[in-house]
Amino acid sequence: MEKSERKACGSSPKGQQEWIAEGEAAFYKTYNRFPVVFERGEGLYLYDTDGNKYLDFYAGIAVNALGYGDLEYTKALKEQAETLLHVSNYFYNPPSIKAGEKLLAASQMEKVFFTNSGTEAVEGAIKIARRYAYNKGCRDGERGEIIAMENSFHGRSTGALAVTGKDHYRMPFEPLMPGIRFARFNDLDSVKALFSEKTCGVILETVQGEGGIYPAEKEFLEGVRALCDEHDALLIFDEIQCGMGRTGSMFAWQQYGVKPDVMTVAKALGNGVPIGAFLAWGKAASAMVPGDHGTTYGGNPFVCKAAETVLDIFRSRDLVSHAKEMGRYLWDKLEEIKDKYAVVTGHRGIGLMQGLEFSVPVGPVVTDALLNQKLVLISAGTDIIRFVPPLVIGRENVDEMAKRLEAAIEATVCR
Ligand SMILES: *Cc1c(COP(=O)(O)O)cnc(C)c1O
Repeated sequence: MEKSERKACGSSPKGQQEWIAEGEAAFYKTYNRFPVVFERGEGLYLYDTDGNKYLDFYAGIAVNALGYGDLEYTKALKEQAETLLHVSNYFYNPPSIKAGEKLLAASQMEKVFFTNSGTEAVEGAIKIARRYAYNKGCRDGERGEIIAMENSFHGRSTGALAVTGKDHYRMPFEPLMPGIRFARFNDLDSVKALFSEKTCGVILETVQGEGGIYPAEKEFLEGVRALCDEHDALLIFDEIQCGMGRTGSMFAWQQYGVKPDVMTVAKALGNGVPIGAFLAWGKAASAMVPGDHGTTYGGNPFVCKAAETVLDIFRSRDLVSHAKEMGRYLWDKLEEIKDKYAVVTGHRGIGLMQGLEFSVPVGPVVTDALLNQKLVLISAGTDIIRFVPPLVIGRENVDEMAKRLEAAIEATVCR
């Protein structure tokens, strides 16, 4: 018998370190991952392959709105998996029609296109703006300019990357899609200065997520809406992170009372099953025509059953009101932490999308929270901790999170 075979016979289950070594050997290295291997989730907790239990205030980057293992959601997925997974967009299927109708009702939009991801939803939204200008007779990009925001994040495909306002994401991949100009978020004059007859659209996150949790100001959104109307350009809101109830309204723009022509959704829409969408109404709803856009997987019965069930659960359990209430509770807790520690210099956000800004890099806090406090948190930029928990959290989870976070702060940045 070979030595390695003998060893395999008596081996115990693979530990985290072995998994990590294998993963590092296999994966194209585009991430610096935390040294944790998650295997299972239940409610608000994640479990690693060594059996450790973690409180999750990260939700897979604002995706797992229902937490883990929700019975109603899981049952719907199982049934759909046994019924029909995929047929292509050249046929109709009931789950996509039902998910579409429910998403339109929740978003006050008129038309929906399902995508596989957020970045693809952004691509589609950009294409609507360009197509709208083309329909007016503009050729060769003479009206192809899109105004995007500094500090924004819209995805990693080369179109979405072109409207992402962070040089370090964009620069290694230039030249990207041309015709993009960057204004300053919440600075209406900077948008006005870039507007011209060449502008076909403006894209912005209603609440900037990756950039550090910066909510738009109402006057800013109103002003950009007016500029778009004046120049007959389309207004696109990227609600991929801030949408789906997270801010205490189904979509963040609904509490500002400023309606975009086009919007994008993804992250929590599928609660972990990959699905996104772009939606449009009015003059934007018919800009693209058959042949203009497509996808093989997008909107298949399986992913749409997930989205439909998520939308049903949002309604039946009134998760939007719950998120609003829990957002207030989280706000008060984080204010206490801010008052207690001098290193915490700022606190922003709406609903269950909040950020604490530190005067020092937060990497050590986030790492200590994960490894020693068994609390899963995410940063946004170098000095902001982002709080985007599952929407189903209760007060006791917020209390527990705060205790663990304080311990991590004390063990690292204010030792
Ligand atoms: C996450 C995110 C995206 C990209 O979504 P992917 O599904 O990762 O492609 C786009 N816009 C915003 C605001 C996001 O938060």
